[in-house]
Amino acid sequence: MTLTCQVSINEALQHDVRRLVLSLPSAARFYAGQYLSLTVGDRAFPFSIANAPGADHLELHIKATEDSADSALIEQYLDDHPNSVTIDYPLGQCFLSQVPAQPVVLIAAATGITQIKSMFDWLTAQSSAQMVHIYWGVVTPDDLYLDDYFKAAAAHAKVTYTPVVSGDHNAWTGRAGLVGKAVQQDIKNLNDHLIFVSGSPSMVYGTLDLFTAEGFDPKNMRSDVFDYAPRSA
Ligand SMILES: Cc1cc2nc3c(=O)[nH]c(=O)nc-3n(C[C@H](O)[C@H](O)[C@H](O)COP(=O)(O)OP(=O)(O)OC[C@H]3O[C@@H](n4cnc5c(N)ncnc54)[C@H](O)[C@@H]3O)c2cc1C
Repeated sequence: MTLTCQVSINEALQHDVRRLVLSLPSAARFYAGQYLSLTVGDRAFPFSIANAPGADHLELHIKATEDSADSALIEQYLDDHPNSVTIDYPLGQCFLSQVPAQPVVLIAAATGITQIKSMFDWLTAQSSAQMVHIYWGVVTPDDLYLDDYFKAAAAHAKVTYTPVVSGDHNAWTGRAGLVGKAVQQDIKNLNDHLIFVSGSPSMVYGTLDLFTAEGFDPKNMRSDVFDYAPRSA
């Protein structure tokens, strides 16, 4: 569906991530984990929807990537069009349409947390959901712009939240290294879980390879990357 939406909020979540909230005429119909395509002039770019379905808005978290002409184009477009934007949605086959019978592991790298947040918000509102484990891999602790949000959620009996920093930071006392490694260290029976991974193709396939080397069955892992960047292509 193509829609022109009012921009109700356009604010900085942190120095390089912008939060855009788009108003809708009625409740947004999509599944948690789906994305939209944002029209930017004669181009269009995919962005995950950060909120759960059912509200009258769509929330996006848009990162400004250094040295990326596409990112500069998007940023300029959003600055120049503060009132309304055109989108196509819902898109993507990596989503939750029902509550999984098994516990769920949600693994994000950088802005991949956007898709994970939508699934997390929806799942934790379902009384029949099993445990939900969130792992968020970032380069520096400053990238954890939703840290307080997930820390508060982890007070919930059925939620764990583990931020993992890959860069070298002396002041960081939490988990360090690759996010997939942290998952592997913590969860020994990965095949008993349904796993969603959101990030770049190299991060997603790196995580898959790490897990399969230890006997993980790939059919238990979901990611948009498997559709838009199939390894055989
Ligand atoms: C399905 C999909 C969803 C995306 N969602 C977002 C988003 O919510 N926020 C954002 O800032 N950028 C998102 N992107 C990337 C965004 O479209 C690009 O940043 C944009 O095209 C500008 O290009 P670039 O050169 O900065 O980055 P590119 O090199 O084109 O994009 C790579 C970046 O996209 C991120 N990314 C990939 N899949 C997802 C995902 N499912 N959710 C969130 N991030 C993802 C990666 O972590 C990586 O940082 C998404 C990309 C895809 C394919």
